[in-house]
Formats: sequence, structure tokens, C-alpha cells
Amino acid sequence: MNKIAALKCVICGREYDADEIEYVCPEHGLNGNLDVVYDYDSIGASFTKEALASNSEPSMWRYADLLPIKDRSLIPPLRVGWTPIYRANRIEEQYGIGPLWIKDDGLNPTGSYKDRASAVGVVKAIEKGKRGITCASSGNAAASLAGVAASLGLNTYLFVPEKAPEAKVAQMLVYGAHVMLVKGTYDDAYELSLKASDKYGWYSRNSGYNPYLSEGKKTGALELCEQFKWSPPDNIFVAVGDGCIIGGIWKGIKDLIALGFIEKIPKIFGVQAEGSSALVKTWKRGDEKIEPVANPRTIADSISVGVPRDPVKALRAVRESDGRFVAVTDQEILDALRILAKSTGVFGEPAAAAALAGVLRLTREGVLGQEESSALMITGNGLKDIKNAMKVAGNPYRIKPTLSDLERVVQRII
Ligand SMILES: *Cc1c(COP(=O)(O)O)cnc(C)c1O
Ligand SMILES: [Zn+2]
Repeated sequence: MNKIAALKCVICGREYDADEIEYVCPEHGLNGNLDVVYDYDSIGASFTKEALASNSEPSMWRYADLLPIKDRSLIPPLRVGWTPIYRANRIEEQYGIGPLWIKDDGLNPTGSYKDRASAVGVVKAIEKGKRGITCASSGNAAASLAGVAASLGLNTYLFVPEKAPEAKVAQMLVYGAHVMLVKGTYDDAYELSLKASDKYGWYSRNSGYNPYLSEGKKTGALELCEQFKWSPPDNIFVAVGDGCIIGGIWKGIKDLIALGFIEKIPKIFGVQAEGSSALVKTWKRGDEKIEPVANPRTIADSISVGVPRDPVKALRAVRESDGRFVAVTDQEILDALRILAKSTGVFGEPAAAAALAGVLRLTREGVLGQEESSALMITGNGLKDIKNAMKVAGNPYRIKPTLSDLERVVQRII
């Protein structure tokens, strides 16, 4: 059974055979990202809600029938996905917002949502007989690729801006990747990674370039809908840099509609940092033309992107679902990071917390009503970026190892 019907260009709509093309539409180059089109009839014959209900696989691979892989024996052993959802009722009460859930993707093997895409990327690399795999990344995609590739013994070549948080670089190195710290931005690293993939034949796991990454990234939405018994919340919020995660989430929703698993369509909300908000600006203008941000500036490194690489899928996710894009300040992001951690016990990195900052902002502006329910994708683990967390974490008490010194502190805090 060939479940992939075609790879379809988002610009011209032309459909290609999956074996005839590797990355993007030849007519449209880097703008011509491809969508994976499935044969839903043949998939739906055995892939049903009932079949899933009796499937005990606790990972994203419970949806393998709906993923673009040929051979299940290549699935990496690390457990990616099937991350938990928690109700954030203390945040609801304190900020007067409707039912709020958080999905903690910081619990993935390398601590970010990117593992979902890396898991599919490495399978495709091995299927295609590649000897190595490469990507450019502000940090998480590279750390993720390094870890998932290490579980299969695949060589990785990573291109990362020199300012990437140290914890993420440490992850890449311990996983045994070849790490190029590029003197420049993520956008510079991205260009170099594409050239390197061309020159050395490494498989490219680059956002907005490799069509299969959206497929991995859609699994967060598949899980969310299944965890909500196929009746998802009104809104889904996610932080956006390149636009690959948000595009993937929308792809997951569209797949489920095509299969008849869900009827209600959640609105998709994309949150960007003000200093890196090319997609917010394009969305407001109402077209699909991106004006790059020359010097993206935000403390949320994972969404610090001047040239979004998956803009069309991202914009359509928001427009077709009747959602919104919203920009938040770095201060709002840091405040949300602290609020999230202390009110739920989930410590997200700044980009992950941006999703909550978006909910708080739109609630304050009266855009979100109290009757609306929302789910947030917590896309990365807070331990990846301690430096920024410490800006809002507060300070410990420094004491001598005596009860009397402790007593001075206790007097002040209770
Ligand atoms: C990559 C990433 C994002 C944004 O994903 P895009 O596909 O670039 O839009 C958000 N949060 C975290 C933690 C990430 O690593
Ligand atoms: Zn095209």
C-alpha cells in the first residue's frame, strides 16, 4: 500500500510523486514547500478511533499509519510524544480566563517539541540510504536531531548560531554530533546548512524545506485531540518562529477532519516575540508576502527568526482556522514563564512560555472570552535556558547552617 498519494506544492498546487522529489517544488524553490497528501480512504479502512483506543503505544508512533514512513522497523527507540496534558486552574482563576490546558512537550527525550520532527526525519534519512543528516537550528532542532540520530547511530552535522544557549550546545555535543557554531544568526546558519546538504549529500532536516517534518509536528495535534476524546478545546496556542510547528498542528487537524475523527475545528493562535514578528505583520496585512526582520531580537532564542521558513503553512493555519497571530514583549514572556512554573509545576523555556503570554495578552485585550477553552503547547523545557529564567526566578536565602539564622528568614516569610 502506498499511503502517500502525492507531495503538493503550497504555491502552485502541483502534485509530485513522493519518489520523484526530495525537498521542495522545483518551480518554486525555497518558497515551494510541499504538503504530504494521503490516501485517506485506504488509511481510514484500518486506522480508526476504535483501533486507537485499543492501541497501547505510548508515543507519537501510535499514529504510524498516518505518518510518511515505509518501514516500522526503522522507528527510533527513544520515546517521543504522547506527552501529558494538565489543567491550569490556578492560572484560570487568577487571570480570569476560560478553561486552560497545557501540553508538556518539554518532557520529550531531548526536552522539546522538535523531537517529533526529528523522529520522522531520521527514519526518512535511513530509508533514503543517507549516511548523515544535517540541520540549522537556533538550538532545539539541532539538539533534538543529535539525540534522536544518536539512538540509531546516524551521523549528524549541525549549524547553530554562536549565541545559542549553552545547555542546548552541551546536548548536541554529548550526543556526539559535529557542531558548527556559526558566527552569525540562525538565518545565516540556515543558508549554510542548505549548501552543506547539497555539497556533501547529507539529508536535510531543515524546517520549511523538508516536507516530512510537518508530519512529525502534526502528532502534537493528533494527541491533543485524542486526549480530549476527539472533541478538542476551542483554541490552540503555540509559539512561532519558522512556522513549522503551527503548520504541522493545522495539518494534524486537517488530517483528522479528512478521516472524520473530529467535527469541531479548533482555532489556531500563533504567538511571536515583538522583536521577531515577521508573521504577525504579514498576517495583519492579509497577504502571504514576508518582509524579513533584519535583526531579530528576543530572549526567546527558539523563536528568534528573521526569515520564517514555513510562512505559507503558518499563515494558512491561522487564517483557515479563524485564529490569530499575536506579538508579545520579552517582559511578557518572562512573566509568563514564572507564572506557568509556579502555578502548574511545568517549567518551560522562554519560547514555550510565549504561548501563555499570548493567552494573557488576548485576555487582557478582551479578544478571548471567559467561555472559551484553550490548550497551550509547551514546546521546550525550562532547563535549556537557565540564564533567562533566573531573570525572573527571584533569589534564594543565604544562611549559616544554624537554626537561629534560619529563624530570621522564617520570621520574614510566614
Ligand atoms: C522551534 C521552537 C518553536 C517554534 O517552532 P517553529 O516551527 O520554528 O515555528 C517554539 N518553541 C520552541 C521551544 C521551539 O524549539
Ligand atoms: Zn510549485
